[in-house]
Amino acid sequence: MASAKYVFVTGGVTSSLGKGIISASLATLLQSRGYRVTIQKFDPYLNVDPGTLNPYEHGECYVTEDGAETDLDLGHYERFMNHPTSQANNVTTGRIYQSVIQKERRGDFLGKTVQVIPHITNEIKERMQILGNSGDYDVVITEIGGTVGDIESLPYVETVRQMCWKKPADCAVVHLTLVPYLSAAGELKTKPTQHSVKQLQESGVFPDVLVCRTEHDINAGIRRKIALFCNVQPEAVIQSIDAATIYDVPRLMKEEKLDQVVLKKLGLDNTGESDVSHWEEFVHNLNNPTDTVEIALVGKYVELKDSYKSISEALIHASAATRCKVNLHWIHSEKLTELSAAEALKGMDAILVAPGFGSRGISGKLYSVRFARESNTPFLGICLGMQAAVIEFARNVLNFSDAHSKEMNPETTHPVIDIMEEQKKITNMGGTMRLGSCACDLKKGTIAYEVYGEEHINERHRHRYEFNSKYLTDFEAAGMISTGVNPKTGLVEIVEIPTHPWFVGVQFHPEYKSTVANPHPLFVSFVKAALKNKA
Ligand code: GLN
Repeated sequence: MASAKYVFVTGGVTSSLGKGIISASLATLLQSRGYRVTIQKFDPYLNVDPGTLNPYEHGECYVTEDGAETDLDLGHYERFMNHPTSQANNVTTGRIYQSVIQKERRGDFLGKTVQVIPHITNEIKERMQILGNSGDYDVVITEIGGTVGDIESLPYVETVRQMCWKKPADCAVVHLTLVPYLSAAGELKTKPTQHSVKQLQESGVFPDVLVCRTEHDINAGIRRKIALFCNVQPEAVIQSIDAATIYDVPRLMKEEKLDQVVLKKLGLDNTGESDVSHWEEFVHNLNNPTDTVEIALVGKYVELKDSYKSISEALIHASAATRCKVNLHWIHSEKLTELSAAEALKGMDAILVAPGFGSRGISGKLYSVRFARESNTPFLGICLGMQAAVIEFARNVLNFSDAHSKEMNPETTHPVIDIMEEQKKITNMGGTMRLGSCACDLKKGTIAYEVYGEEHINERHRHRYEFNSKYLTDFEAAGMISTGVNPKTGLVEIVEIPTHPWFVGVQFHPEYKSTVANPHPLFVSFVKAALKNKA
């Protein structure tokens, strides 16, 4: 078995250049040539994983099949590659240190002084090769979070140097930079790129490919200049011009021959063409809608749209699948009163109430559910959004006036959402929720069954609270029914209101599984319901 090849993706000049999208686009191009590819991300912060981070810090926390709480870039990887990632695909400095310190306490280092070099870099190196050593992949793309030159990135850059030193024929380094346009001078400027490449070179890492983010075409002269001063081949200067949608980036990178240049450096066959036809079709459908719907997304983190990244991307996938443009209206749940909710939501073709934690904004979510339920507007509640649907129904239909989740009101006399049994004894917050893929059995004759077209499904979870089954008979008698349950525990995972045109609350997160190749059927059905409502 040939050993895996490694592509390292670093970033310079500024953050937010889109390393994740470039990595995912490269993976897509390599996959289309028949290579088995995965992408992993190494993040330089000290949290053991992003699960404990407020979404305002880094956007949403993405959950994998195996229940890892990871960086949102892993969502892009899966959406592009249509291939699941796992805990091994996301490593933070916190996790590296945690593991080294545990080894030190066990006595594994036999009395040696434990240091960043070699112990931390060895740990990074080992983890960088886990997926490569599995035999499952031909190419492992490793995105290094942060920006070259940051103090906290140094151990990663040093590890990349060591990997390239050890396996020069099996490694390629792709460096992303910015080529800014100075409008006063009317020129594109290459100096920041030259400096950031110098910085990498000073650490002993010599990039093979430069992907230059730019707002204007980089002409041949500027490409030659960048190549000469940054010590790369002219064809390895790749322009990445601002795209209207991230889903057009694979095509743009194919045109720039990013895959060919990388394969050549790795000594892999780069003849023939990568196939991006299904991407072109996807982008064509996205750009040529035959109809439009207005959908409200009600949440408390709407100032930072990355907090709901997978949801907004799943709606884009559904939009391409239905040829129906989704105009997403971001509605701040914290600012809603009963009156303003009705005002904000009355023109909407459908309403989505987002996941979340804690009390902030919960009343705005309850007003939104009530509006959707009473006005027969299609409603999708995800996780806390589903719990809000249950609480609203309990209060306004069952007349349990103080009904609540124990998360928000531990004293409620009607805890219609209660803490899960196994969560009661948990004191540590990190990685202890109900996480990852769980089975769910669907009831025939329901929207859920119709949407999935099968009885047994698996979806990913991230929560501590659940529907309190003690109340199930009350709910079902009054018109809110359970349509999906966990076969092992009997937990209610889906609720619906059959007398409503399309009212679905799901305890899981369907958004994590929507990809370009497989738009999630629940989002597709939701957009279709919005379209029907509009008509
Ligand atoms: N806060 C709720 C719980 O823990 C919902 C979580 C979520 O929306 N992801 O159960």
